[in-house]
Amino acid sequence: MKIGVLALQGAFIEHIKMLRRLGVEAVEARLPHQLDGLDGLIIPGGESTTIGKLAGEYRLIEPLRRFAQSTPTWGTCAGMIFLAKDIGIDEQPILGAMDISVDRNAFGRQIDSFETELEIAGLAGAPYHAVFIRAPVVTAVDKGVDVLARLDDGRIVAVKQEHLLATAFHPELTDDLRLHSAFCDIVGETQT
Ligand code: GLN
Repeated sequence: MKIGVLALQGAFIEHIKMLRRLGVEAVEARLPHQLDGLDGLIIPGGESTTIGKLAGEYRLIEPLRRFAQSTPTWGTCAGMIFLAKDIGIDEQPILGAMDISVDRNAFGRQIDSFETELEIAGLAGAPYHAVFIRAPVVTAVDKGVDVLARLDDGRIVAVKQEHLLATAFHPELTDDLRLHSAFCDIVGETQT
């Protein structure tokens, strides 16, 4: 199994380290041909406007759209924004791969970062310690999208749609490998 991490901007190195700790072959992807042969892709957190702009400059938008149509792809934070089909504004490029609406910077300036324990569907054991940094939330899901986690106030912060996964927080900034492992399971299921 070979998983790429989109390495245009943001926390890509941390995702690569997590995958390698799981014994998975992990590579940086920043050019269209580097998507060839990947069994899955992680789009990291960072700044979605920058990721979108650079993806345009690297001619990656269409290749990424095609990739995400059939190959497991996981967007975290800015990556979740980039995967969404609706972010309420037209100015920034997005892939539109996932049937979710997303509100960028949903927590505003006053609580722009926080950490909390989340119950995530499908993850056994203790709650997941989730790190939110200027995070988005999912404001609407179409049918076919499963909600995996909500904050105490009900806002949606983790979703799955077939082979696509999106989380509003930063799973690469903790020691907990369970979400990376769950994504590898999705990749494994898609291969068989
Ligand atoms: N606020 C950022 C954006 O809009 C996302 C922040 C993050 O990825 N930690 O892209």
